[in-house]
Formats: sequence, structure tokens, C-alpha cells
Amino acid sequence: MPTAITTCIACSTEAPVVMYGATELCICPTCGLGWLHPMPTNQERAEHYAKQYGLQNDILGNSIQAQMRRWSRLPEQLSLIADIQTLKPAPASVLDVGCDMGNFLDEIRRYGYSVAGVEPSESARSQAHQIGLQVFSSIKELCDDTNTLYDVVTMHHVLEHVDNPVVTLTELHSLMAPGGLLLLRVPDFSCFWSKLFKEKWIWFQPENHSYHFTLRSLLQVVQKAGFEIRKATSQRPNNYRTMKAQMLSSHSFSHSMNVTQSFKRAVSPYYQFVTGIELYILAQKTS
Ligand SMILES: [Zn+2]
Repeated sequence: MPTAITTCIACSTEAPVVMYGATELCICPTCGLGWLHPMPTNQERAEHYAKQYGLQNDILGNSIQAQMRRWSRLPEQLSLIADIQTLKPAPASVLDVGCDMGNFLDEIRRYGYSVAGVEPSESARSQAHQIGLQVFSSIKELCDDTNTLYDVVTMHHVLEHVDNPVVTLTELHSLMAPGGLLLLRVPDFSCFWSKLFKEKWIWFQPENHSYHFTLRSLLQVVQKAGFEIRKATSQRPNNYRTMKAQMLSSHSFSHSMNVTQSFKRAVSPYYQFVTGIELYILAQKTS
């Protein structure tokens, strides 16, 4: 049976159930956190990710799409690596939770970092294994296998997918070294475009996202898990360089696409650039 939760996990306020388009949501009147009502069970969630999420779920549905995605995210990843080099110079250990095929880990290990990942999608995980990355199916499997304490944990557009973000971040806190850094990004449910487009907003995806964070609710969740906030902002992740890289990548692989796919690939960078606002948090384990 799915679980019905009506108390906000961020601030403990009782929230009403409302219809958000065709989706039943609880929206906290105090901190603005939104969550699915009822919440999917862990088994439903696991089956969904095993079957539907990852490489195969895109317009090209094959390895070319995976290559396109890799190259289009590269500028963003290099910028993140530069930030991490400043904050935690190598040698240091990096854990990427929700690492997909491991593209980010593959890049950052070239700079002298030791790396590991967590990824529930079997197809993505097997791609990561093929390039020699250590990637686990869950945080629990990681805990059972290793005693490593990580210096940096990255989690990009992952926390909105989990059963209980406070529990997940608390587990990660226990896996981190003192002074360890958490770099977290999630869609910004309270941004202008989300309010304008409502359930049509690019990142309102109730089939994938169990939680919809506002800045206030995310700060409370991160602090509840034991972290101290170092930086918090609402930003456009798809910056100009990312958009250019997406266009170049589409152009390079255009011979593999039909007209509809080419059109979608040509338009989507602009749409994402304008409306895909996210929250970014840099937090630290201080005790
Ligand atoms: Zn709340």
C-alpha cells in the first residue's frame, strides 16, 4: 500500500491535500514543500527506475543519445570540478549519488580524485561498470561494502526522487568525513516558471519526482540532516556554455536523427535554458 504522509518532513507543519493539475499533492503552508499524496512505496519506486529510467528513456533510445548527453553536460561538469578543486583539492574522495552512467565521476577522476557512485538504474550502472567505475545500486549496498568516508558528496537532481530526503541526507552525512562537502541541486518549485506553468513546468514530473522543493524547505531538510549551509541560491543550470554544447552535440549527431528528433533537439536547449531553474546548496559536515 502507498503511504499517505500529510506532515511536512521539513518543518513538521500539517499540510492539506490539493489537486495540482491531475496530481494529488500536499503543499506545506509554512515552507512550501510539495510532495506526492500518497507517496509511492519503495518497491514501486525501485520497479519504476529499474524499468523506465536511464539511458533507454529518451528520444533516440540508444548509445548515440548517451554520447550526446555526455558531451552536452561537459561544460557544466568542468565548472563543478573547478569549484571542487578550490574547495577540496585532490587527493580526496568523491561520491556521486544518482550518478547515471558515471560521466561526472569519469571526468573528475582524471583530476586525481578517488570516486564512487550510487545509481539504481541497472542499465546506467552497467555502463558505469564498463568504464571501470565503482557504482552501487543503493546507499545501503555502498554501506555494506565499504568503510570509506567521503570528502565530497554530489547529488544532482536526485533528492526529489527519494522516499524521505531527510533520511537519505542523514545516511549520507554518516558516510562523510569531518569537514566533508555536500553539493546539492534540485528543481526550484517556487521559481517564476513553475508558478506560471504549474503542472506543465519542465521539472514538474510526478511520475519521477516525489518531492518539490522551495529554497526554504530545502534549507530546513539539509540542516535537519546535520549539515551547515555554506551557500544557497536559485540558478539557471543550463547556462550559455551548456546551451552551446547541447547545440554542438545535436549538430554533431544530427545524421542519426529523423526530422522530429532534430526539431526537439534544436528547441529543447532554449526551453530548458529559460525555464529550468534549480536550487543549488553547498553544505558542510561540521561534526
Ligand atoms: Zn514545511
